[in-house]
Amino acid sequence: PWQYDEAPQSNDHIEIKDQYDLFIDGKFQKPAKGRYFSSVNPATEEELSSIAEATQQDVDKAVKAARKAYVKIWSTMDPAERGKYIFRLARLIQERAREFAIIESMDGGKPIRESRDVDIPLAAAHFFYYAGWADKLEYAFPGKKPEPLGVAGQIIPWNFPLLMLAWKIAPALATGNTVVLKPAETTSLTALKFAELCRDAGLPEGVVNIVTGAGQTGSLLVNHEEVDKIAFTGSTKVGKIIMESLAGTDKKYTLELGGKGPNIIFEDAPIDQAVEGIINAIFFNQGHVCCAGSRLLVQEGIADRVIQKLHDRMETLIVGDPLDKNTDIGAINSEQQYKKINQYLELGVNEGAEMYQSSCDLPEKGYYCRPTLFSNVGQSNRIVREEIFGPVLTIQTFRTAEEGIAKANNTPYGLAGGVWTDKGSKIFKVGSKIRNGVVWANTYNQFDPTSPFGGYKESGKGREGGLHGLYPYVKLK
Ligand code: NAD
Repeated sequence: PWQYDEAPQSNDHIEIKDQYDLFIDGKFQKPAKGRYFSSVNPATEEELSSIAEATQQDVDKAVKAARKAYVKIWSTMDPAERGKYIFRLARLIQERAREFAIIESMDGGKPIRESRDVDIPLAAAHFFYYAGWADKLEYAFPGKKPEPLGVAGQIIPWNFPLLMLAWKIAPALATGNTVVLKPAETTSLTALKFAELCRDAGLPEGVVNIVTGAGQTGSLLVNHEEVDKIAFTGSTKVGKIIMESLAGTDKKYTLELGGKGPNIIFEDAPIDQAVEGIINAIFFNQGHVCCAGSRLLVQEGIADRVIQKLHDRMETLIVGDPLDKNTDIGAINSEQQYKKINQYLELGVNEGAEMYQSSCDLPEKGYYCRPTLFSNVGQSNRIVREEIFGPVLTIQTFRTAEEGIAKANNTPYGLAGGVWTDKGSKIFKVGSKIRNGVVWANTYNQFDPTSPFGGYKESGKGREGGLHGLYPYVKLK
């Protein structure tokens, strides 16, 4: 029910305003300092809209509006009523799914097939799922009384804009908290569209506030005295800064950070299926995926075959216009990210790795990268250790399961990974030794609102999604 059967048509009515203000206390409001920044379509390098920059006064206003709504309305409302509002938001996302999908692809560069079939339906599914919890919290916390925290400050990245918003806002509202959310500066549009939905759903004013801006705005939110909880998804670097600024305060926080996912292929795996899995693991969403399978670990006996099959399959990937439903790999999200990926490509070659790139043509305008595979790499290569966040895969081999596990775990990150084998017992044996919050078996990049997601080690703190996604938004009495 969350998919539609037709690809978007070019004559769809998509409204992107020339200028967007901040959404505070149920109204779009001009930013105090009158400053705006550009949101660019990375596929064309043209400006899509200009977006308000929230400064101290605006963040203050948003937090105060959220506080007022929390005290006067949201925390005291009958939980079943709260659930109905969240349900309504889910329905409105479904109703405007085409518009959301197209705007997401224009603003962020991701292929329309992905925003249409993954991002937007999953965002709706999250709201449906948490709408169901709103009046059943006593079952989530048997024998305890879960109380909301107050105002949640939420900061999200640019790789899954509406979906990350859903991961944040849905559980916060279900547990009785109000929200001030800051989207990433390159992808604010679907959050602002979502603000319109809040208005259309009749959500009480101040329950959801959207403040746009760059890191500075995020930092104002983190350090605001009247914010009770911070939910952050983004880089490990910024996650650490946030953790340090929150030390010594009684704010609760969750961090969903970076990753360098190991994808482990054993000799007994169904090879063609695994090759598809490898392609999906790294090239989905241009590799802008925190849990991307960016480190391929292949058992020695099948390595040559896997590499050959990967080369062949990479040649068939279509790189280009995100709005074309045949596109597999769209535009890189921003000029900055495009430059970063290219620096890593250069670095890989300078480090002595062997680079294979598919030979496809790239559009003349826009930020595009060819799918890339680096072989002849070791654990000390920076392209193996650092998160590139682009369509770039490294391949290493291993002989025994122990060696594969050791290589998989040899990273400061611990978000997600995959294991491919024909033997169920091996999946459990290997999977239990991988120090990641998520291990997929004979598949990759599967997401579901009922399933908790989060990292070990430097990939984060806390879990989002599922029953566990409620925990960070309550205190127990
Ligand atoms: P980023 O850390 O640069 O930015 C994330 C968000 O934080 C943006 O909204 C940004 O404006 C804001 N921000 C930047 N500096 C800040 C500061 N000092 N204080 C408060 N907010 C600040 O990350 P990004 O480049 O937007 O996103 C990519 C990163 O996000 C990758 O590392 C990726 O792995 C990670 N990510 C993790 C998950 C997960 O669930 N673990 C999901 C998606 C993305």
